[in-house]
Amino acid sequence: MKSFQDLGLSKELVEAIHQLGFETPTPIQEQGIPVLLKGTTDLVGLAQTGTGKTAAFGLPLVQLLDDNDRSTQALVVAPTRELSVQITSDLERFAKGVKNFNIVTIYGGASISEQIRKVRKGAQIIVATPGRLIDMLDRKVVNLSTIKYVVLDEADEMLNMGFKEDIDSILSTTPDTKNVWLFSATMPREVREIAKNYMSNPVELTMGERNQGNENIDHQYIVIDERDKYLALKRIVDYTPDIFGVIFCRTKIDTQKVAEHLMKDGYNADSLHGDLTQQQRDRVMSSFKNKTLQLLVATDVAARGIDVSGITHVIHMNMPDEMEFYTHRSGRTARAGKKGISLAIVSKREVSRINQIERSLKRKFTKILIPTGDEVCQQKLLDLVHKIKKVEVNDEEIDSFLPDVYHELKELSKEDIIKRFASIEFNRFLEYYRDAKDLNRNDRSDRAPRLYADDDRSEGGYGNGDRVFINVGKMDGLDKGTLLGLILDFSEVKKDKIGKIDLKGAYSFFEVEKDVTADIMKAFEGVELRGRKVRLELTNGDPGERREGTEPKRERPWSPSGGARSGGRSGGRSGGGERRESRTPRGRY
Ligand code: AMP
Repeated sequence: MKSFQDLGLSKELVEAIHQLGFETPTPIQEQGIPVLLKGTTDLVGLAQTGTGKTAAFGLPLVQLLDDNDRSTQALVVAPTRELSVQITSDLERFAKGVKNFNIVTIYGGASISEQIRKVRKGAQIIVATPGRLIDMLDRKVVNLSTIKYVVLDEADEMLNMGFKEDIDSILSTTPDTKNVWLFSATMPREVREIAKNYMSNPVELTMGERNQGNENIDHQYIVIDERDKYLALKRIVDYTPDIFGVIFCRTKIDTQKVAEHLMKDGYNADSLHGDLTQQQRDRVMSSFKNKTLQLLVATDVAARGIDVSGITHVIHMNMPDEMEFYTHRSGRTARAGKKGISLAIVSKREVSRINQIERSLKRKFTKILIPTGDEVCQQKLLDLVHKIKKVEVNDEEIDSFLPDVYHELKELSKEDIIKRFASIEFNRFLEYYRDAKDLNRNDRSDRAPRLYADDDRSEGGYGNGDRVFINVGKMDGLDKGTLLGLILDFSEVKKDKIGKIDLKGAYSFFEVEKDVTADIMKAFEGVELRGRKVRLELTNGDPGERREGTEPKRERPWSPSGGARSGGRSGGRSGGGERRESRTPRGRY
C-alpha cells in the first residue's frame, strides 16, 4: 500500500493531510492522485460516495493551482447545495497552511448578490450547483475562459436531476484546453455521453464493481404493514439508543410528517427538504453535523452527498425507484472505513424491490425482526445501566451533598434503590410498550390478522389480538356502533379491548385483545337475538373473510319478522327466547 508521499504530493500538502487525520490514501486517491497531478489528463472515476473522492480531486487541485493568480482556474460542479458547501469546506481544509485560495460556493436559494460580491473579489476555485452557475454565467459575473480544470462530481445524480442541458452549456463556455475530471457512482448512458463529448482519452478508474456498494454497509430490511412503518421506526430508535441516523422518505410531505411526528413524540429529529429556506437547511445541517441533532429526516435530493461522519444508520421509510438512489442513500453511512447499517422498512409489496437491489449490488440483505415491546424495554434498561456504570463521578463536588442523600435512602436495600433508580427512566417505556403488538409481517403470506381499528394508530392498541366471527350483521339491523354496544353489554369488557369491526350482511367480524377473547365467547353462550342463537367463532389464521354466502348454517332459520317476537329491531336480546339471566340488555339492538 502506498503512502501519501508516494503519490507525488508536496511535503506541505502531505503534512496538511496528516493533520486532518488521513494516514493512508484510499484506493481512489492512490490511483487517482498521481494521474491528476500530471495536470494534463481527463479522468472518469467510477466511485461510490464515501470512498474519499473529494480528496482524490481536491488535493491535486490544491497542488496544481496558483494562488498568486486571481483568475478562476477550477470549477467544481455538484448536484446539491449541501454537497457544494461540503466540497468547499474540504478544499479549504486541504489548502489550509499550504496555499491561500479564494474559494467561492455558488448555489441557489441564497442571496445571489452576496455570491456575486465574492466572485468579483477573485475566485480561484468556484464550487457550484448547475442552476445558479448558469444564472451567474448569464449575468456575466462568472468568467470560465481561464478555467484549467472542471470537476463534475456525482455526475449521474446531476443528470438524474435533469441538469443535462445546464452541464452542456456550462462545459461549452470553458476553453478546449481544460481537463475534465468526472466522478460518478454509476455509469448510465448519459454519463458516458458526457465523457464522449467533452473528454479526450480519459483515464478510467473503477473502484470496486459497478453499482457495488461500500463493503462496510450492512444492508438490512424489515417487513411491516405500510401503516405500521412509523411505529416500527420508533421501535428501532428506542432499541438503538446511540443511533445517529438519516431517515429517507420519498416526498417532502412524508419527510415533514415523519419529522414532525418524531419531534412530537419526544425524539431529537428534524427535517431536510427542498421547501425549507436556505437558512433553515443550514441550521438543520449544522446541528446534524455537530451531532446536537440525532435524527435527520430527509428527501433523496436534499440529503444527496452529505458527508457527516459517524452516521450509524440510514433508514429507508420506503424503497426508492432508482437503484442509484439506494446507493446514494446508503452511502451516507459507513464513511471513511467505518461500519454502518442501511435499514429498509418495507411493506410486503416492496420486498421484490429488495430482491432487485440485492441482485444489482451483489450483496445479500439480512431480514431482521422488529424488536418486541419487551425487547425494547430490556434494551432501554441495559442502556440505562451502562450509562450509570460509565458516568463520571465528580467525587470532590458531590461528596458534600451525599450525607443527606444517604440519610434519605437509609431505609431502602441496595436492590430497592437499584429498582427505583432504574424505574425513573424505565417506567415511561414500560407504560408505552406494555401491550405493544408484534409488528413483524411474514413476507410470504398476507394472512395474519389485521389488528388495528382504522382510526387507532397508537402503539399497544390491539396487541396480540384475535379476530372473532359473529353470526349477526346488517341484516339484523345492526351497525358498527350497535354491534359494539352488544358486545360490550354482554361481555362487560372495556371498549378499548375491541378493535376493528367488520360488519357484513348476515354476520360480522370483530377484533379483540386476546386476554378477553375467552370472556367474550363465554358471555355470548346461550344468547339469542330475535330468536336466533348468537354464535361466535375464533377465526385466527383464517382472516380471509368468509365470503358472502359461505356463512355457516344458522341454528334456526331467521326471518326479519322473527324480530317481532323478540321485541322488534331493538329488542333482540331481551326478546322472546332470550336465555340470559344475569344482565338485562339496554334495548339498543
Ligand atoms: P468523500 O468520498 O470524499 O465524500 O469522503 C468520505 C469521507 O472520508 C470524508 O469524511 C473524508 O474526510 C474521509 N476521508 C477521505 N480520505 C480519507 C483518508 N485517506 N483517510 C481517512 N479518511 C478519509
